[in-house]
Amino acid sequence: MSDLVVRRIGRLTTWRQPVVEDAAVVIRAGRVAWTGADAQLPGDVGDLPELDAAGAAVLPGFVDCHTHAVWAGSRRDDFVGRLGGGGYRPGGIATTVAATREASYDVLAELTQRRIDTALAHGTTTVEIKSGYGLTPDDELRMLDVAAEVEGPAVTTTYLGAHVVPPDRDRADYVAEVVATLPAAVQHGASWCDVFCDDGAFTVEEARRILTAAREHGLGLRIHAEQLARTGAAELAAELGCASADHLEHVDAAGAKALAAAGVVAVLVPVVSLYTRSGDWAHAATLREAGCELAIATDCNPGSAWCESMPYAVQLACLAMGLPVDIALRAATLGGARALRLDDAGHLGVGARGDLVVLAAEHEADLVAHLGVGGVARTVVAGRPIG
Ligand SMILES: [Zn+2]
Repeated sequence: MSDLVVRRIGRLTTWRQPVVEDAAVVIRAGRVAWTGADAQLPGDVGDLPELDAAGAAVLPGFVDCHTHAVWAGSRRDDFVGRLGGGGYRPGGIATTVAATREASYDVLAELTQRRIDTALAHGTTTVEIKSGYGLTPDDELRMLDVAAEVEGPAVTTTYLGAHVVPPDRDRADYVAEVVATLPAAVQHGASWCDVFCDDGAFTVEEARRILTAAREHGLGLRIHAEQLARTGAAELAAELGCASADHLEHVDAAGAKALAAAGVVAVLVPVVSLYTRSGDWAHAATLREAGCELAIATDCNPGSAWCESMPYAVQLACLAMGLPVDIALRAATLGGARALRLDDAGHLGVGARGDLVVLAAEHEADLVAHLGVGGVARTVVAGRPIG
């Protein structure tokens, strides 16, 4: 929790006022204390450490509200095979489960920290991390422990025991085990419960049972919905008041309206549509037309989105899904915070966390327009410049 003044900001986006040119931000004890024109900087900041933005654009730090960043092993065979003509199989998760169970705690922690360091370098200041590659109570809880130990950005963790039914398990028994593990997941620091509700994963009925029990244990609810087929998971998310419904590639107008009416944040994961070559882009327009609050996340995982970069996800959301730049940047910051029900992240209003990114560009639109190179020059977390 640091003090910092960021000066000579070319264009400052706070989401609390119009873009301010030639701006400055004052952070005290890790929180935004003042924003405005650099020329009007308060006189009492002389002793604070200073970061010179040198005319670059500054945004609130990215909020990556959907990752599976804890894993061991590789899915490169799946990837190479898919480019040879195969489709995406949720069953491929078993490869990662086997490698993750086999890895020692320290190895898993180091692999995860390295990924989060990469995310941080690309501007992620808040990250949600799911379990889901353990699929036994002990292995799932170990993943939650690894995730909770990650350093750098603010971290919130999600119990995703209901990722897939392990091939050697009876469905009903496994669902009962997931439900029985909920109290331990809370003890191991989880704030959220998620279910992969889809063809080849969990049914709407199974998801309702798990999420209803999770809510009784005080967990917030999220759901992988409508990714592979239109199942009705969007309506379930609305019925249960989930904080977010994620994926939604196969949602229709009725499902999108249900989400909007219930205030469920629709989380777009465009890297998945590219990585799996599904070509699913049109749902973004459906969700937007329905008036859904949008978030953008990486879905960082080894099988369908090996990507830690929020700027890359934003580029795809604009170029492939057709979102306007300002809508996409807002979704990747404020939208992500709303999906995690955080009032003090994703914007730079006074009192918010002092989390921001100094872009390697004079205009925020260049983060999207300039492809294939690093768009983030510096990440600041709670007033502390990283790197
Ligand atoms: Zn996911």
